[in-house]
Amino acid sequence: MKKNNLETICVQSGWTPTTGEPRVLPIYQSTTFKYDTSDQMGKLFDLEASGYFYTRLQNPTNDFVAQKICDLEGGVAAMLTSSGQAANFFAVFNICEAGDHLILSSAVYGGTFNLLTTTVKKMGIETTVVDPEISEEDLQKAIKPNTKCILAESISNPSLVVLDFDKFVKVAHRNGIPVIVDNTFPTPINCRPFEFGVDIVTHSTTKYMDGHAVAVGGAIVDSGNFDWTKYPDKFPGLCKPDESYHGITYTERFGKAAFITKATAQLMRDLGSIQSPQNAFYVNLGLETLHLRMKQHCENAYKVAKWLKNNDKVAWVNYPGLEGDKYYERAQKYMPKGTCGVLTFGIKGGREASIKFMDSLKFIAIVTHVADARSCVLHPASHTHRQMTDEQLLEAGVQPDLIRFSVGIENADDIIADLEQALK
Ligand SMILES: *Cc1c(COP(=O)(O)O)cnc(C)c1O
Repeated sequence: MKKNNLETICVQSGWTPTTGEPRVLPIYQSTTFKYDTSDQMGKLFDLEASGYFYTRLQNPTNDFVAQKICDLEGGVAAMLTSSGQAANFFAVFNICEAGDHLILSSAVYGGTFNLLTTTVKKMGIETTVVDPEISEEDLQKAIKPNTKCILAESISNPSLVVLDFDKFVKVAHRNGIPVIVDNTFPTPINCRPFEFGVDIVTHSTTKYMDGHAVAVGGAIVDSGNFDWTKYPDKFPGLCKPDESYHGITYTERFGKAAFITKATAQLMRDLGSIQSPQNAFYVNLGLETLHLRMKQHCENAYKVAKWLKNNDKVAWVNYPGLEGDKYYERAQKYMPKGTCGVLTFGIKGGREASIKFMDSLKFIAIVTHVADARSCVLHPASHTHRQMTDEQLLEAGVQPDLIRFSVGIENADDIIADLEQALK
């Protein structure tokens, strides 16, 4: 049976029971797994046999969900993490160590910006932040001999910049560097970065994948396309023996699964940011309707964006799915089916008026969240991005009056009615 249409993957991929097994993905709520002989277990520790032994490293429930996300992205291997933050950290730290350098798009989620500029610096990893609209020449100039990766978001949170995949992939690959893309906002339903040459994809599954705001989680997916073995000196962690694992060389032993195997066997073992099987179960439930929800989020966001654009109390609107938006053409190129349900706008009267407006909303709630079924708003300058200076805010494409509006899957007319009464 052909199972590679996204809608079918959402529902059917991952857990596929054989006769007499539970129809629904079971929650393996167990820290450990039983073996008959000491030798069997020993082989697992040597990575000579595959199997489960301790949930900090791997758990079946998590692996079935990771497999579904892997199939949705069209990758070769995937893993779940405890959060989107952990996913981005593990993806970077799997190839960067003290003395290394990475390039980061300035238009990324505030938490990612903080992690990859301030926190990794304490580990000896240096970051150059670049404007996502940087010229190809200047991007080339930012690359150093110790640059190990470039990280950007497919649609940035909250500035809604659609990534120029071709430019970043071209410059990175010319220099023997992988591109990591955080694909949280469009999800693989609307955008599949591997089709544009991206090497590693990360997710905050907390957002649309869960979709109901019940479980914090993350995922990393490897395309399997980046040939680490071409640059053994640049990526020694993958191409040279791991002394903490009896001298295993990941690329030799695991081929295309090297990146995810190393991140699991080494980083997860040592840093332990696992997703709980219970949360993985929730993510799986969310994934079963992801294709339906993304469609409705996009339809509603388009209607709302259009309505806001034509409202004279509204100063500006950004929605890459709306004709005339700065990123509309690029969105048509890389995500023609739709972008996401998130849009941003400012209302006349600036920062003060924006806050008063948000406080006047009825069912559209003020929450620190995006991308779930319920419509919600947030003011990044006073919430998620409050650690950033005004200069950094503008660099990240966040105006001080910016309202981030996550359009839910309620009735679009009802959403608009709530906006209308609050604007009044
Ligand atoms: C929320 C978010 C993150 C962080 O994810 P958590 O699950 O909250 O740790 C990373 N990237 C993007 C684009 C996000 O929206």
